[in-house]
Amino acid sequence: LSGAMTSVTLRVGDLAGEWDRTGLIPLDLLRELGAEGRLCAEVPEQYGGWGLSSMHSGAYTAHVGGLCSSLRSVMTSQGMAAWTIQRLGTPEQSAVHLPRLTGGGLAAVGFSEPGAGSDLAAMTTTVRRDGDAVVVDGHKKWVTAAHYADLLVVVGRYEDGAVAVVVPADTPGVRIERIADPLGCRAAGHADVHLDGVRLPADSVLGGHGLPPALLVTTALAYGRMSVAWGCVGILRACLAAATAHAAGREQFGRPLAEHQLVAGHLADLYTAEQVAARVCEHASRCWDEGSPDQVVATVLAKHVSATQAARGAATAVQVLASAGSRDGHAVARAYRDAKLMEIIEGSNELCRLMLAQHALSVPG
Ligand code: FAD
Repeated sequence: LSGAMTSVTLRVGDLAGEWDRTGLIPLDLLRELGAEGRLCAEVPEQYGGWGLSSMHSGAYTAHVGGLCSSLRSVMTSQGMAAWTIQRLGTPEQSAVHLPRLTGGGLAAVGFSEPGAGSDLAAMTTTVRRDGDAVVVDGHKKWVTAAHYADLLVVVGRYEDGAVAVVVPADTPGVRIERIADPLGCRAAGHADVHLDGVRLPADSVLGGHGLPPALLVTTALAYGRMSVAWGCVGILRACLAAATAHAAGREQFGRPLAEHQLVAGHLADLYTAEQVAARVCEHASRCWDEGSPDQVVATVLAKHVSATQAARGAATAVQVLASAGSRDGHAVARAYRDAKLMEIIEGSNELCRLMLAQHALSVPG
């Protein structure tokens, strides 16, 4: 794992700021990382993946998140697509699709729609049978990595439940419309996906039958939540490193910034944020690796704590660097914009709090 981390560090180098400014990660690099299984590291070895545990995958995701949140976002989408195929698909579907995702093919997952953001039950995308085919109609919004994707895993209504369908991005009727100016993770390839009469073989439906919508969404999102949570640990580590280096090196009023107690307080807060986020993520990954019944709530907790700590921590880092960190492309400026989005995606702060409250109410006193 440490070799993989060094290799990704060398390949990102100091380019994350430039990717942020141009809004693009070179496609060749994404395909190269994908072909080495580095974009969905938990896929089992039998499908060409690394078969990492949640804990090891988390450490790797935090590392990438500290280098570049856009690249980590692409990884999250790829991992979530692979996880959805593995969990909901038949063994035959896994054998067809997963080797593509560990072989250089890129994927994205579409749930959100213009009228269905937090409330995914309001989804209107339909998947309907037509002879030996299925036809998909709908509009997915803000799909991370869709700009780069070869495969789209699209969630839609099917008979009296919901399904996830694997849609090759070049199928007639698919139109991918890039979001030009996202607040953060600017090189993550966010796009709207329009699906107009998209005709696919019936075996594109993962598992072949409908599921209760809430079950399907929770299954697919669980992986994304863990990935985002660990990515936020990486953001906090990058912010802590930048803030401590700056506070130790720059002097004002005749001494290093770090010797001014209010600045030292910011550093302590950042260190605390990083430690708290890392501990809740470790707990959640342990639950995944042990198959604990606490896995679902631990995942929501990890996502919520890490995202809120990262958003606050990144703001603190910008405060410590002040003008030195106030330019587009600077690591803390990027972190500030990227971290804010982590409070919105994969279950916003509010939705996480509602789920945590529901859990608290269900625990016997
Ligand atoms: P809304 O649902 O309209 O919510 C607006 C505000 O109201 C939020 O603060 C929300 O928390 C709050 N709110 C809503 N309902 C309640 C409630 N019942 N109680 C309390 N508060 C409530 N979607 C995908 O399908 N795939 C992706 O890969 C993907 N990537 C994304 C990447 C980024 C950077 C962003 C910004 C979005 C992405 N999305 C993706 C969409 C994302 O999942 C939605 O933005 C998110 O679910 C929130 O939906 P919304 O934006 O429509 O906000």
